Amino acid sequence: MLISKTLRCKVFNPTKRKLQSLTPEYLNFQIYVRSGRDFGIYSLTKATFDFKYKRKARKKKQPMPLHNQSTKFRITNNKLTPYWFRIPVKGKRGGIWLPIKPHENIDFTWEIREAKLFKREKDFWIYITIRKEVSLKTSYSSVLALDIGEKVIAAAVLSSVRKPIFLGREVRGIRRHHAWLRKRLQERGLFKKLKEMRGKEKRRVELVLHEVSKYIVELAEENNSVIVLGDLKGIRKGSKGKRFNRIINSFPFNKLSFFIEYKAHLKGIAVVKVKEDYTSKTCSRCGEKGKRIKQGLFKCPHCGYQANADFNGAMNILKRSLSYMLSDGAVAFSPEPPMTEMTRAEAH
Ligand SMILES: [Zn+2]
Repeated sequence: MLISKTLRCKVFNPTKRKLQSLTPEYLNFQIYVRSGRDFGIYSLTKATFDFKYKRKARKKKQPMPLHNQSTKFRITNNKLTPYWFRIPVKGKRGGIWLPIKPHENIDFTWEIREAKLFKREKDFWIYITIRKEVSLKTSYSSVLALDIGEKVIAAAVLSSVRKPIFLGREVRGIRRHHAWLRKRLQERGLFKKLKEMRGKEKRRVELVLHEVSKYIVELAEENNSVIVLGDLKGIRKGSKGKRFNRIINSFPFNKLSFFIEYKAHLKGIAVVKVKEDYTSKTCSRCGEKGKRIKQGLFKCPHCGYQANADFNGAMNILKRSLSYMLSDGAVAFSPEPPMTEMTRAEAH
């Protein structure tokens, strides 16, 4: 399976001469986007734009696409930065080499794909897409089920242990704190400060999501587990409830599942998504319909089972994925999740 990511690189202290080649190329490209007139753009850049982006692009500032056949990447022992990237410029044979600073170290086992050139205020940035082929393990010895929720970011349960692990509780606190802060800043009319804080909240939440996803993947690696998570996206339109809307609107659900999937795939661990509808309302002990009552507690009127609602959700997701497990506890992975008794019953 191919996985890809984007390296965000700042063009680092380019010389005046290089800027004198780079700036007109970028500006000519912007004129071309707006008016279709070509005052000098490298041919493959223009062709890439015409082929891939022109139809969708509105007549405003666009990143300049750089085809991977026209770029080159090099590591040097330069003191400024070891990373250099060659980009094509009209009329300049061999293009120009630019010193770049990526946000993370570059690993050469990845293949370089398309890059995009941006200008933000005075600085140029190059976003480079890189990709790598990974193969996923096909057999596992346990299942790690995850319920992604609002109270705790993720409730995890291992098929071999069956005790709840709650992760990312602090996100709720961060969000509450920032909601309070926003209100106060708004009251005082401190709008510039307000804007700054928005980025800060996002970064703080993202940091937790990175830690949580890293922990989950390590847990799966240690226990040789396949990861199973509830798929909110798979829920039919008609069945979107209050809880669903709340999670989707207020919570970076997609981001967390993306981080988990990405980090798992890097280690060759498969991630399976099962339909999440009803997992929060179904009793994980008897399968009857129960209720999420106060303070994140789940209660089943049928059998009297009481548990943390997120744990109950994770147990339901685990139950749904147990048909992966063979009698000896081994798990065979197939890309299509099998129908379990529970999903069959709910299909009616
Ligand atoms: Zn029950």
